[in-house]
Amino acid sequence: MKIKKGDTVEVISGDDKGLRGTVHRVIPGRRVLRRRAQKGTRSPGSDHSRDRVVVSGINLVKKHQRPTGDVRTQVGIIEREAPIHMSNVALVCPHCQQRTRVGYQVLENGEKIRVCKRCAQTVD
Ligand SMILES: [Zn+2]
Repeated sequence: MKIKKGDTVEVISGDDKGLRGTVHRVIPGRRVLRRRAQKGTRSPGSDHSRDRVVVSGINLVKKHQRPTGDVRTQVGIIEREAPIHMSNVALVCPHCQQRTRVGYQVLENGEKIRVCKRCAQTVD
C-alpha cells in the first residue's frame, strides 16, 4: 500500500484537484470471489484497483441525516468526507513538501520503507 493513514496527500484529479489533506482511513479493495467466499475456503484477495482513501476536507458530500431517536445524532444536512479513489491522490512528501511518487527501499533487517522519488528521503 503506497498511501497510509496519517499521510498528507494532494488530489490530482476531479473537483478537489490541487487540495491537500490528511488521510483518515485507507479502504483496501477486495476482489469479489462469491463462490469461494461462500464455501469459506479462501478469503477474498486484495484488488488494488479498488483501493480508496478518506481524506480530511476532501470529496465532501452533503448527507441528509434524519432523526434516529438518539439525541447525540446531528440532524439535518451535514457534510462528510466520501472515500476517494487511491489513483486520484498523490503522496505529499514530508521533507520536500511536493507531491511525489513512492519508491521502496529494503533495509538490512528486511523491512521495506517508502522513499520519496524526488528528494530520496524516507517517508515513513
Ligand atoms: Zn521528498
